[in-house]
Amino acid sequence: MRRRARASGEFDLIARVEKRTRLPRSDVLLGIGDDAAALRPPAGQCLVACVDALIEGVHFPRATAPADVGWKALAVNLSDLAAMGAMPRWATLSLTLPRSDPAWLDGFLRGWQRLARRHRVALVGGDTTRGPRAIAVQVLGSAPWRKLLRRSGARVGDSIWVSGTLGDAAAGLALVRRRLRGVNAADARFLRGRLDRPEPRVALGVGLRGRAHACIDVSDGLAQDLGHILVAAGVGATIDAECLPVSPALQRAVPDARRLLAHALNGGDDYELCFTAARARDDRIVALGRALGLRLTRIGRVTAARGLLLRTSSGRHVEYAARGYAHFR
Ligand code: ADP
Ligand code: MG
Repeated sequence: MRRRARASGEFDLIARVEKRTRLPRSDVLLGIGDDAAALRPPAGQCLVACVDALIEGVHFPRATAPADVGWKALAVNLSDLAAMGAMPRWATLSLTLPRSDPAWLDGFLRGWQRLARRHRVALVGGDTTRGPRAIAVQVLGSAPWRKLLRRSGARVGDSIWVSGTLGDAAAGLALVRRRLRGVNAADARFLRGRLDRPEPRVALGVGLRGRAHACIDVSDGLAQDLGHILVAAGVGATIDAECLPVSPALQRAVPDARRLLAHALNGGDDYELCFTAARARDDRIVALGRALGLRLTRIGRVTAARGLLLRTSSGRHVEYAARGYAHFR
């Protein structure tokens, strides 16, 4: 096709991608190099697919290191599969670059491959075009259909859990935008790391198969993403403001209690998992977190009354309206 970057070395770039992302998997029958890839999902499981685009200036600041972009482009998709309880296997990559830029590409692929190796995800195809810098990644994985973690499965009385800590990535972004100041260097590094190198909770998602009733990854803020579960299941929730897990770095960076709470509730880009499970399973969930070395915090419970109620430190219940991230708003 014309209008592509053929003249500026599209094929050289593809060869570079192929060479730097090699990762053998026996379920890849045909990878990069033909008109399409051929893959063999495990017998008896369903194929689980997701795609996410990252646009420069929208999803990552212009100054982001290419290796961080490569890591994050894959991470946000692995996080979506994790939220389904699916095991990631393969990825495709649509790469749009303003010009042939092997140095940028090498950095991107370094970050990509670091995470890809960790989760054994093979890059099996993609597309390379010229235009404003944008990356679209599709990840394919598999799971037993009946154990898939869906948003709609939440039941009244369930405990609501969240992994890791909330609000760190939003603080990292505030640092980049210079809207947050006076943060010590070590805390700033931690918060930036949470923004640039989110850890997709793949092992947790798989561990929750058959244990959790509903699950979502927190990409747009806890209140908004939990809201999706509540709407899908036709239920409500009460959240304990005091229980929301926040890192020591975030507490130091945002000492004001109200602003800290806003970060934890509305901050996007953390890519932790929020899930619901029967109360009778509380101990099993705690044990799972311990086995994975991952902090899991019970933050509230599912209620029959619709909407999201926040229980504050004074014991008051306040109705909560989500203010997470939404495009076109
Ligand atoms: P076509 O014109 O048939 O789409 P391309 O020249 O776009 O073929 O791609 C050739 C091969 O390289 C295909 O296997 C394609 O999947 C792979 N490919 C192209 N760009 C990328 C990329 N950015 N990442 C991974 N694979 C890619
Ligand atoms: Mg193509």
